[in-house]
Amino acid sequence: TAARVLLDLDDSYARDVPGMSLPWSAAEAPAPRLLVLDEELAAELGADPAALREPAGVSWLVGNGLPDGVTPTAQVYSGHQWGVYKPRLGDGRALLLGEVVDTGGRRRDLHLKGTGPTPFSRGYDGMAAVAPMLREYLMGAAMHALGIPTTRALAVVATGALVERDRPLPGAVLCRVASSHLRIGTFQYAAAADDPGMLRALADHTIARHHPEAADAARPYLDLFRRVVDVQASLVARWMLVGFVHGVMSTDNTTVSGETIDYGPCAFMDAVDPATVFSSLDDKGRYAYGRQPSILQWNLARLGEALQPLIGDPAATEAVLASYPDTYEHHWAAGMAAKLGLTGPDHALGTDLMALLHAQRVDFTTFFRALAAGTARDLFLDRDAFDAWAARREAALPPDRARVASDMDRVNPAVVPRNHVVDAALRAAEDGGLAPFHRVLDAVRAPFEERSGTADLARPAPLGAQPHVTYCG
Ligand code: AMP
Ligand code: MG
Ligand code: MG
Repeated sequence: TAARVLLDLDDSYARDVPGMSLPWSAAEAPAPRLLVLDEELAAELGADPAALREPAGVSWLVGNGLPDGVTPTAQVYSGHQWGVYKPRLGDGRALLLGEVVDTGGRRRDLHLKGTGPTPFSRGYDGMAAVAPMLREYLMGAAMHALGIPTTRALAVVATGALVERDRPLPGAVLCRVASSHLRIGTFQYAAAADDPGMLRALADHTIARHHPEAADAARPYLDLFRRVVDVQASLVARWMLVGFVHGVMSTDNTTVSGETIDYGPCAFMDAVDPATVFSSLDDKGRYAYGRQPSILQWNLARLGEALQPLIGDPAATEAVLASYPDTYEHHWAAGMAAKLGLTGPDHALGTDLMALLHAQRVDFTTFFRALAAGTARDLFLDRDAFDAWAARREAALPPDRARVASDMDRVNPAVVPRNHVVDAALRAAEDGGLAPFHRVLDAVRAPFEERSGTADLARPAPLGAQPHVTYCG
């Protein structure tokens, strides 16, 4: 049933795929207070930003005071976390408020995170704290500005409740916009439910929503698999090309749309090191920077298994999976070529560069801007090693060097959300001052611009700073 709360809300997922979500209500927020609203995104959705700032709008953004006919739902899914299968995860602290068809005609989920316990909370409190929700807001905005497919936050509202963590923290609800919340784990749940009708309904809904061309293929479910492999390979290649470490690449955090989801212990790498991890939980480096492409392949294998009741051809599924390394390398090499100013991919030049940047501990983001500016040599202790690599690149460059530099500056960010910068902004926000947060937000929203007065945001952490660690919140 479509219903309206500032926006017309639909529930096609619950209608199309019965048995995979439950109607549920958000906890009552004692004193909701809007902290940040993405007015541009609100307008894109067709909502009036001013109305969202009104008390009724803010209440809606935490799932309270909804009119009759608007029923949030908790979605169920399974997933492999740290490689271990969990048969029943699901929205333990989140609710799907509804689906909106935006002003561009695209169906988007409105999801509320931090809305209290649900039947899928597994003993956890269902809450979220202000700082991690502001962090998700900021990271989503940064990734979007970098042109990387991502869920985005519409708003963060402080609830007025306290959340028990290692100390009591102010609680918040994040309103998240996604092209859907369908995950590999969603398919794993449907496959394990041993109800071929439910799995088929889920796959058909996914095809219609995300991969409509698959419907016309000779083998639609195999084609769906191939398309998810492609969009995810492209996504993770994009992550690698900006130095992004997701941090928790469990199968329930891998979307079938190809959007980045769940900004928990994620961060951008400074000095290049494939072993880079930020999560306090990832002591074995399972989800380290350099392992992301192979972890994705592992996750995609789980999707292939889940789709077997529909595909019914393990060999054909295996063949798609076997094509993944080439698919990934294709996306990565094309992106690296653009970063280097080349007209076509040169795989060896890219991988040799990564090895060199690692050996010399060069800051990833700084390097590509410096390369365009002609100052990259200064970043290397071993100048001969750089010169040898740079000569190979020179030979592959098109003649118009000014054009090369300006093209490179359009794909290589000057500003990414640096860990020490983000942490300082979030600490200030917890103490009630949102000015530093907005300063960082403004900068990461224009990542290709070198603005005066923002040099401190663009620089890596000072040498000798404590290594950055993120905790779940
Ligand atoms: P994540 O690592 O954030 O993707 O979450 C993995 C699973 O744990 C999901 O099912 C979440 O809904 C659930 N979860 C995470 N934090 C909480 C919490 N504070 N309360 C209830 N469930 C949670
Ligand atoms: Mg998750
Ligand atoms: Mg999460």
